[in-house]
Amino acid sequence: MLALNEQSLKELKNTLEDMGQASYRSKQIFDFFHKEGKTNIKDCTTLPKDLREDLSKKDLCKIDIAHVFESKKDPTKKFLFRLEDGHLIEGVLMQNNYGFSQCISTQVGCRMGCRFCASTQGGLVRNLSPYEMLGQVYQASNRYGKIHSIILMGSGEPLDNLDNVLRFLNLLNAERGYHMSYRNMTLSTCGLVPGILDLAKQNRKVNLALSLHSPFQEVREKMMPIAKRYKLNEVFKALDEYTENLGRRVSYEYTLIDGVNNRDQDVVKLKELLGHRLHHLNLIPLNPIKEYGKNRPQRDKIQDFKKRCEDMGLNVTIRREQGGDIKASCGQLRQKFEEEERV
Ligand code: SF4
Repeated sequence: MLALNEQSLKELKNTLEDMGQASYRSKQIFDFFHKEGKTNIKDCTTLPKDLREDLSKKDLCKIDIAHVFESKKDPTKKFLFRLEDGHLIEGVLMQNNYGFSQCISTQVGCRMGCRFCASTQGGLVRNLSPYEMLGQVYQASNRYGKIHSIILMGSGEPLDNLDNVLRFLNLLNAERGYHMSYRNMTLSTCGLVPGILDLAKQNRKVNLALSLHSPFQEVREKMMPIAKRYKLNEVFKALDEYTENLGRRVSYEYTLIDGVNNRDQDVVKLKELLGHRLHHLNLIPLNPIKEYGKNRPQRDKIQDFKKRCEDMGLNVTIRREQGGDIKASCGQLRQKFEEEERV
């Protein structure tokens, strides 16, 4: 049985009818959860007291902000959210000229094993429920203001938790609720082909980003074990289907690692892979973790790589580093905080 705040308006209506209540109450409850971003049904004063009491006995999913780290250099904030079972997940809120953009986690931990990523160090702990994703947006929104766009690029692989992710996206898009456009949602994947094909069949025009990191199959396999299972040619075939069905350009995330993927042959191969496709190549200087032992290129080498890509006709940007003084890449805050709590 879904928690009350994970039900669609139609499902809530059925729940209310099963309780012998008037179905219009479902709209008031949906507004309370998804427009006001509140959870404690006892505070929903548009409902009669006895109904609030009855509803408070039903399942409700909760998530709280455990800690906010604020950058001193820019308006970036990094969150640690605490789930009801005590687990912690991370999120980042960035401010752009068009509004707030938030990075969302979809799992506690991750089982994809990307070598450069701290989130996968302890493996997958569990999937997040739809509300545990929604609650990240609502909590940040209640504190800082309306969130313009989200990117599913925190801990977890969204396509490894696809059913819950789709329900989350639907609820966030609901006209009666937060009403975020699918076009303002970006799902980032390490390349799970069946999930990409599933998404390509749906009618949600969300943006899709592939964590590419190397245009060479063998280099990619060393960085991302999942690449052994889904070869680059299969991944691109699935992405082409996505673009064809939904008319959306795919973005390619490219973590720049010195000496690993910033060589001349990388530029040539990137041109071969992306040049004839609708694409946007997003260069992300590596945020080093001790377990990986590699470094980001120096600033001038990063600029030089971008220039070489541009000269090849690629559509490329360097991701602006935000919150650089909050020293933590994805997964590191959670690790650090959990270690401190154990002391
Ligand atoms: S980069 Fe993403 S998919 Fe890869 S291990 Fe980290 S969280 Fe998982």
